[in-house]
Amino acid sequence: MMRLDALDSPERRAVDLIKEVAREKNLRPYLVGGPVRDLLLGRSVIDLDFTLEEGSSTLARSMAKRLNGRVRSYPQFLTYKVTAPELPEIDIASARSEKYRAPGALPTVSEGRLQDDLMRRDFSINAIALDVISDELHDPTNGKRDLESKNIRVLHDESFIDDPTRIYRAIRLATRLGFAIEPHTKELMERAISSGALRTVSKERLWRELFLAFEEESAPAVIEALDGTLEVLFGPRQIDRSRLERAQQIAKSDASLDREALFTSAILHGNASPVDLEGSGFSQRRARTLMQIANELGRYSDSLAEAETERQRFRLLKHASPELLGVLGPSEHVARFQEYRNFRLPLRGSDLEVPVGPHIAKALERTREAVFVGEIAPEEARAFAQRMAIKYLNREHVSG
Ligand code: ATP
Ligand code: MG
Repeated sequence: MMRLDALDSPERRAVDLIKEVAREKNLRPYLVGGPVRDLLLGRSVIDLDFTLEEGSSTLARSMAKRLNGRVRSYPQFLTYKVTAPELPEIDIASARSEKYRAPGALPTVSEGRLQDDLMRRDFSINAIALDVISDELHDPTNGKRDLESKNIRVLHDESFIDDPTRIYRAIRLATRLGFAIEPHTKELMERAISSGALRTVSKERLWRELFLAFEEESAPAVIEALDGTLEVLFGPRQIDRSRLERAQQIAKSDASLDREALFTSAILHGNASPVDLEGSGFSQRRARTLMQIANELGRYSDSLAEAETERQRFRLLKHASPELLGVLGPSEHVARFQEYRNFRLPLRGSDLEVPVGPHIAKALERTREAVFVGEIAPEEARAFAQRMAIKYLNREHVSG
């Protein structure tokens, strides 16, 4: 017997509503994949995925209407996403079958029966459906047995060749759940890797899988376990677990930091180049951030240690991204610099009575620094800033 009542309340409310609407419209929705697996494991369920042999669009639209939510349609996947405030995201899909025409390419999708939909899936533990009306489980590939014995098992021998991203998925899921990759599956996986299967997938798709690994609670362990599959993206690399742990710790300490850049720089430590980032979709700015950490960390810490004055250290750290500061810190120097960043002077450009121009901001910045490091007293700030502004102004005139 399946424990739908073990769901947390928003998920439960969503399932109750699905049942209600399905009864009214005479539809038969199945909860499938991840949420069924997690329910059976007693883990918390995040997204709700439903599959129907018929009437998925009716169910999706009626749910959205009932909830005052919205529905988006993804015709290429025969899927609808229903979103409403305070409810988990609900995916409603038509049962489908898939054909892989070429290894590594996206499959052709056509409508199918529940059975087809379960058989096209990646692993047995993800191929279980729960009929939410009757509470009956459909488990054609013995996924429950693999849940009990903690095994990741593919459904057929061509699975990793058809879709090599399943290699990443298997490793990610095994690490997350503390499962083993069942021996035959492991053999198929290793055979696929050594036959170059990962090369048949676009780099964009491989990066997407890698980004999913970064989101995991146990990201460092997942990335370490992916070692050996990352060569197609980065060439041979030595992955250092402690760097990954550090990246995780920094990303956790401040959610505004760029987690993807932090992890990628940990992977590429010592030798990152723009070709490594092909397909990642990193913007120029984010790429610079991560390459700075990967390639210049040593130089930064050395210069920081060698600097003799606080001003020299500030000059250096001014060019560091917040992510690099995270990796450099926590240290007395970085903490002082952060303090300096937030330090404000009660002085504005208009207080200086000097003609406007870029020299004003420069002078205020120089003054802020001088007060902070104790070069001048706060009472001297205004006069000091004026002198600096005039000095910079004259310099501008000289340089033209
Ligand atoms: P998570 O908790 O990470 O969301 P999940 O199992 O729900 O895990 P999703 O990526 O959300 O994973 O995919 C939903 C379901 O779709 C999976 O449970 C699996 O049945 C199926 N699936 C996803 N990716 C593939 C794939 N590459 N090949 C076959 N089936 C897949
Ligand atoms: Mg999911």
